[in-house]
Amino acid sequence: FDEVMIVHGALGMRDRSAACIMTPIADVFSLSADAVLDEYTMERIHLKGYSRIPVHAPDNRRRIVGLLLVTNLVRYNPKSCKRVRDFTLDPARAVHSSTNCLSILKMFRQGVYHMVLVSDSRRNPHQAIGILTREDAVEELIGEE
Ligand code: ATP
Ligand code: ATP
Repeated sequence: FDEVMIVHGALGMRDRSAACIMTPIADVFSLSADAVLDEYTMERIHLKGYSRIPVHAPDNRRRIVGLLLVTNLVRYNPKSCKRVRDFTLDPARAVHSSTNCLSILKMFRQGVYHMVLVSDSRRNPHQAIGILTREDAVEELIGEE
């Protein structure tokens, strides 16, 4: 990439917050912990093509209880009709919506996390207003849309 653009992007990242680069919760493909992984749901998962699916409480789409990794489903037979909650979910970490993008990029570089929740509420961090992946932070850095 163009180095000048990267430096420019890096400087701008301190002034922008997680809320600017997140995928809003309304656009997130999530599943209820209660959802049955039947053929229809498995097809929806594969059509979406995401690697990580936030799992929400049955009564509240914004309350994310964990992350379902699609790689854990490769040997799964939809005929067994298990529920999402029968699988081991990855814990979902949350960042506050005001966290600046540079801190987020550092966090992704240091940690094993690929996806974090973005929350407005420090008391209730799993009430998500969006999600963020490493890719969102890197795109912000290199100035792509
Ligand atoms: P699911 O178990 O698939 O998450 P749900 O039982 O929570 O669904 P509702 O909250 O009643 O379902 O929403 C009805 C339908 O709206 C869903 O089955 C889904 O097809 C669609 N939908 C709306 N928003 C989303 C979203 N963010 N992610 C996935 N599906 C959504
Ligand atoms: P990977 O590249 O590790 O296979 P992926 O293709 O599932 O992951 P990312 O590359 O991390 O996803 O992210 C691409 C974009 O999709 C980002 O903007 C991210 O916020 C968004 N995204 C990731 N997972 C979901 C999801 N379950 N629902 C909606 N958007 C998602």
